[in-house]
Amino acid sequence: MQPSDKALVPFVSVDNMMRLVHHIGVEQMIVQIADQIESDFKRWESFDKTPRIPAHSPHGVIELMPTSDGEAYGFKYVNGHPKNTSEGLQTVTAFGLLADVYTGYPTLLTEMTMLTALRTAATSALVGRYLAPKNATTMAMIGNGAQSEFQCLAFKAMCGIDTVRLYDTDPGATAKCTANLQGKGLTVIPCKTPEDAIEGAQIITTCTADKKYATILTDNMVGPGVHINAIGGDCPGKTELHRDILLRSDIFVEYPEQTRIEGEIQALDADHPVTEMWQVMTGAAKGRTDDRQITLFDSVGFAIEDFSALRYVKQVIEGTAFFEPLDMLADPDDPRDLFGMLMRAG
Ligand code: NAD
Repeated sequence: MQPSDKALVPFVSVDNMMRLVHHIGVEQMIVQIADQIESDFKRWESFDKTPRIPAHSPHGVIELMPTSDGEAYGFKYVNGHPKNTSEGLQTVTAFGLLADVYTGYPTLLTEMTMLTALRTAATSALVGRYLAPKNATTMAMIGNGAQSEFQCLAFKAMCGIDTVRLYDTDPGATAKCTANLQGKGLTVIPCKTPEDAIEGAQIITTCTADKKYATILTDNMVGPGVHINAIGGDCPGKTELHRDILLRSDIFVEYPEQTRIEGEIQALDADHPVTEMWQVMTGAAKGRTDDRQITLFDSVGFAIEDFSALRYVKQVIEGTAFFEPLDMLADPDDPRDLFGMLMRAG
């Protein structure tokens, strides 16, 4: 028996996602996802929100990230296993699903490892547009792993960065990132120390993976006026910045209830003031207000960013060949005759 069209769920494989990205263009897709995220952040109050649901183990974390705007429901399954790269596996992998709230039927199933890198870069650069110093030209990129090229290209496309200074404890990662960014319109400077990498940078992105309270930046490394885009500290017990930097910075977050558990601010008192980015985007709160201010985006990644990315993918694959219809919902002719459907299949 053939399932009806309404029971077939569009599925975007990794292969199709890569084709889609090539079809649209990496930077263009980041910009378009950022537009979607910005418009969803501006209607923040229409979403159901909850900190993501983690399952911690000594090896890493597996998380579910759900949200809904009352019409569509989305979730992402994502892991974070810093030890994986030493076994030839990725630190972060993900897939996600969008569903219709009215019927509860899924409307999209997609890989989200690529999509997470794109949406994380889109969010970082979108926030950078509000917080980074005007006319910033140089970004230090500390941590040159899977997310790094996406981050560099997003800041180029959206914040006008023309130079990136790369540093990683593993020189092989820096060499990989340098090679991948050749011909992409950026001046790429590999550096031997983090101090060298931040030299002259108006934006500092930290995107390292280590399950500990790491100190990627110390207080003396951060001068006035910079914008810090801190990506890698996103789990209890996993941070990147010395506490003194936090105390000198104006801190901006996605969803405080989640960031206080997972972000850099887990090192601060529970009532330390932070500003929510959606309020900056709606104009209810101020972003950067002066040239000497240190702005810190304490990014952990929030479900609405994934929801925006899922809805974006659903829109752009319509009428294309970048998906396969997946037979994942049982569809008996008589909705109550599930058993009869099973018997007839025998
Ligand atoms: P990855 O494992 O591919 O790369 C991490 C890199 O950091 C590696 O090359 C490693 O050598 C380097 N590194 C580790 N310790 C370092 C140090 N002290 N100094 C400099 N470099 C160091 O991981 P990835 O996929 O690029 O992700 C990086 C981090 O970002 C992870 O912690 C991940 O959980 C986090 N992340 C956050 C978001 C978000 O929305 N905030 C989204 C995706 C990933």
